[in-house]
Amino acid sequence: MNDYYAELGLSRDASSEEIKRAYRKMARKLHPDVNPSDEAADQFKRVGQAYAVLGDPEKKASYDQGVDPYAPGGGAGAGFGGAGFSFSDIMDAFFTGGAAGASGGPRSRVQHGQDALLPLDIELSDAVFGGEVDLTFDTAVVCTTCHGDGSRPGTGKHTCDVCGGAGQTQQVQRSFLGQVLTSRPCTACDGYGDIIDSPCFECDGNGRKRETRTISIKVPAGVDTGTRIQLRGEGEVGHGGGPAGDLYVEVRVAKHPMFQRQGDDLHCSLELPMSAAALGASLPLETLDGPRDIDIQAGTQPGDVVTLKGLGVTRLRTESRGDLLVHANVRTPSKLTSEQADLLRQFAASRGEETPAPKFQSVNQGLLGKLRQAWKG
Ligand SMILES: [Zn+2]
Ligand SMILES: [Zn+2]
Repeated sequence: MNDYYAELGLSRDASSEEIKRAYRKMARKLHPDVNPSDEAADQFKRVGQAYAVLGDPEKKASYDQGVDPYAPGGGAGAGFGGAGFSFSDIMDAFFTGGAAGASGGPRSRVQHGQDALLPLDIELSDAVFGGEVDLTFDTAVVCTTCHGDGSRPGTGKHTCDVCGGAGQTQQVQRSFLGQVLTSRPCTACDGYGDIIDSPCFECDGNGRKRETRTISIKVPAGVDTGTRIQLRGEGEVGHGGGPAGDLYVEVRVAKHPMFQRQGDDLHCSLELPMSAAALGASLPLETLDGPRDIDIQAGTQPGDVVTLKGLGVTRLRTESRGDLLVHANVRTPSKLTSEQADLLRQFAASRGEETPAPKFQSVNQGLLGKLRQAWKG
């Protein structure tokens, strides 16, 4: 395989801007109009080829995956002549973003792969803290036997003799309007312009094969069910080992046995015996951040909320977090022994509550008002 990064004097993580800059600089120095030596012409051609690949997002993605369109013995066919290019053509390529060579003619065997959308099941803790989640899926990958070329190793392709490599055949048809020239894809070569002498036995000439892959996906903190994550170039490899499409995963957060999410906050309910609500208590809660003590104030009412600041869900793309709200669910004992009933009667007597005063009030001051306060506070 040609090392196009080295050809441009770049490392493999060079940005598209760096690639463009490096090529522009070298093309200026090496162009035959500027430098007539044979050596320069040769290097100019190689540098041009390197840029034709690295300057084209699709070809680059494919090359980064190990498919070299200019590898000896096959590939996509050179789209960049190097020599014979005028200086302005090269500069034009920067502004159109293309690498030239894409015009009519036979269709390329190398096609862009399809995007894919898959569900990604994660735990609530992954959504809260972010995490790495493995995803196993069935996809199309570059054939390892022919590296996407489609030919059995050691064999090649020959120009289609039906269409002469054009990929199209033309027919003259007579109609009442006169003679009409129509062109259609050549059936002998499927429009490719060439024919594989001996198809690769592993991929049947497709250049790709099905495979089960497992990838580790970085899940950012704060995602929720329905959030989509884009993974560039992790989709299906195209026909002829063409650059892979993108993989999108749609997050599905599993139900947690204890905590329910509402926006950035987590909620849970704490069942409290009446006595603990009256006397106060400190109870351990296993939060997603580890054990915490929940302090129940003496005199806690049904629906009161204990807020643990910052123990909720991380807000997407920030460091800040919502809260964890514990809702007190005060339970009145429903089955009393006669001894317990006596104790409660004594308790009521000591508070002068043997016959409770009729304290009816509007709903606003009562339960609903309390709920409102809880949501505000
Ligand atoms: Zn193959
Ligand atoms: Zn043909």
